[in-house]
Amino acid sequence: MNIFRLQVPQWDVFDGLVHGFLGRLGGRSQLPYASLNVSYDHGDDVQTVKHNWCDLKMALELSDVDIITANQVHGDTILKVSSGTGKRAGLGDGLMTDASNLLLGIMAADCVPLLFLEPGRRVAAAVHAGWRGTGAGIAANAVTRMTEEYRIDPSGLHVAMGPSIGPCCYEVGRDVTKQIEADWAEALRGAWRPDGAKGFLDLKAINEAQLVSVGVPRSHIVRIGPCTACNVEKFFSYRKEGKTGSQLSFIGWLL
Ligand SMILES: [Zn+2]
Repeated sequence: MNIFRLQVPQWDVFDGLVHGFLGRLGGRSQLPYASLNVSYDHGDDVQTVKHNWCDLKMALELSDVDIITANQVHGDTILKVSSGTGKRAGLGDGLMTDASNLLLGIMAADCVPLLFLEPGRRVAAAVHAGWRGTGAGIAANAVTRMTEEYRIDPSGLHVAMGPSIGPCCYEVGRDVTKQIEADWAEALRGAWRPDGAKGFLDLKAINEAQLVSVGVPRSHIVRIGPCTACNVEKFFSYRKEGKTGSQLSFIGWLL
């Protein structure tokens, strides 16, 4: 079975850029991880996950390129990756680099995967934003860290938000929105539809507002892919399935 990969059509103009939001199709894992699970952290067979990594790199013609990942912990830490970092960059939920010939990978199963690029200095970043990361402002944090570290202007950044749980399915309690409200009340407005004691949350809308608040042009922000929970035949959804795998999103510049 073929691997399912979404790409941002507007990014075709960036020579040397490689990116993708993968789905769950085309791997070897068995249920509940079927089939292209890339996470070692949720109980799937280690050898099978290794095979999945190998298969996907082969299918994408990226066998010679390292895909650097992080030990994701639902925080707001952005790790700086250089060519000598190794395949695991450490504890964090975002990775950034100005190095070529390596890719940054982020894993998600409902949380929002965000891919960033800046074409002038060929900077890239990959970020994982669930409600905790969103509440902590990880998307805005990534922009700030990149502008400080690589001396780029946020107006030159392009960002894509991939398949994640949508406001159609993401029911949360007030405990969740209160934590987001603490720092991002304005961003939460319009992204929250109350329904009794609970309500429905639009994580992408909040992340978009955060990005705009730190200087990313709204016209440079793209949303791609459907709701993961509405489309479990193509995407892993933790909320819908409980125990499940994670799909990969990746980005980087090749020479
Ligand atoms: Zn949905």
